[in-house]
Amino acid sequence: MKVESAQEIWEAALGELQIQVSKPNYRTWLAKTVGLSYQDNKLVVGVPSPFIAEYLDKNQRSLIEKTLIGLTHHDANIIFQVDGRYQNSGSSNGERGNISFTTTQTPNFNSKYTFDSFVVGSSNCLAHAAALEVSRNPGGTHNPLFIHGGVGLGKTHLLQAIGHAALASHIRVLYVSTEQFTNEFINAIQERKTREFRHKYRSVNILLIDDINFIAGKGQTEESFFHTFDELHNANRQIVITNHCPPESIPLLQERLRSRLEWGLVTGIQPPDFKTRIAILQAKAKDKGLNVTLDVLGLIAQRAHRNVRELEGYLNRVIAYAKLVRASVNSELATKALEDITSKNTKHPAITLTLIMEAVAESFQLSPSDLKSGRRDRKTALARQVAMYLIRQETNCPLAQIGKELGNRDHSTVIHAYKKIESHINTNSDLKRQILDIQRSIES
Ligand code: ADP
Ligand code: MG
Repeated sequence: MKVESAQEIWEAALGELQIQVSKPNYRTWLAKTVGLSYQDNKLVVGVPSPFIAEYLDKNQRSLIEKTLIGLTHHDANIIFQVDGRYQNSGSSNGERGNISFTTTQTPNFNSKYTFDSFVVGSSNCLAHAAALEVSRNPGGTHNPLFIHGGVGLGKTHLLQAIGHAALASHIRVLYVSTEQFTNEFINAIQERKTREFRHKYRSVNILLIDDINFIAGKGQTEESFFHTFDELHNANRQIVITNHCPPESIPLLQERLRSRLEWGLVTGIQPPDFKTRIAILQAKAKDKGLNVTLDVLGLIAQRAHRNVRELEGYLNRVIAYAKLVRASVNSELATKALEDITSKNTKHPAITLTLIMEAVAESFQLSPSDLKSGRRDRKTALARQVAMYLIRQETNCPLAQIGKELGNRDHSTVIHAYKKIESHINTNSDLKRQILDIQRSIES
């Protein structure tokens, strides 16, 4: 098999691994790897250093091999080989590229994260409109702009889209992950360069801060960010912040910073609905120069319902599989390529179900057996509806089964509960916060 195939297989595997391992983990160990050759089920992967080769070999081998088997439907034998040439090649694909801002004044934005490539749907239209407004009118009415939403829903994409737009208008803009902000702050103190640090952050017109959550509870760094915030805000400079949850739900955050984060506009991104998922897939396929039929896109959209990264990963998988077996992409092939995802998602519904029920029960100070019982007092009934909502949201578990597990109700009760909670979340911020907390505890 040709070298291209090795790259294609590895690209597809990376797409999957990106979903399976944590972001820092991915960035540290996998981001700069490449597929070198593939023959007799043996895949040679080029890595930048012996240390990374050893780490992957010892710690990630079985996960990676499992992923490959899922993709190729063959045995997999993987070899990590140091390959210096690829060290700085990065990758063109999304999060895989290193999008860090170093001390130079030209931010290294991911070229794909623009407003043009952002598909707008009902789940993200408010955040998109706010981001667009901020890029046109920085320091105006939405300051700070705070965008929250689950992983892989396009927060970084929107943040960098603002950055691209600002650069095009020659506005000084700085994009930084909160992790980087923290590291730079600590280095500045150690190297006695706090003046440079302050100057860097306080001389921009737009400051884009990704994943602010990381700063909470980090004493001096939080303090430094607080002052940076005040100074920029007082000077009518624009600040845009993202996070997986709204300011009110960030644990350990100082009250005065929390209230500042809520000064401007706080807006959320929800998981995309089916229609938007299709539109996103169409855009991604077009971007790759591929013509994929609607029924295939539908198959993918049905399976990947949690976030956009997952959607992209599954599309990549289908494409990689088609290349591998040298067939064209049709619904039969797509079903086959996505086979074990379906079984993966439905194989352990009991575990996820139990997990969600436990988390909900704990949050409402009930026991899981209360949720399963026929009790109808208000608190129990609400907790049960929240559990139905979350199970529907987080798993592929059939409605009838959800109903059966939770007090032996039928599927229409589950639909009713889902709709009720969905609309309550928009009007009841306490409930919304409680559900976000439960989701976080499930995810961790
Ligand atoms: P987050 O920062 O919320 O975890 P990202 O911004 O990294 O998510 O998005 C994950 C991937 O999904 C990126 O490749 C991004 O381009 C893509 N993506 C997310 N939302 C959209 C959208 N509405 N339209 C097009 N691509 C999207
Ligand atoms: Mg992000």
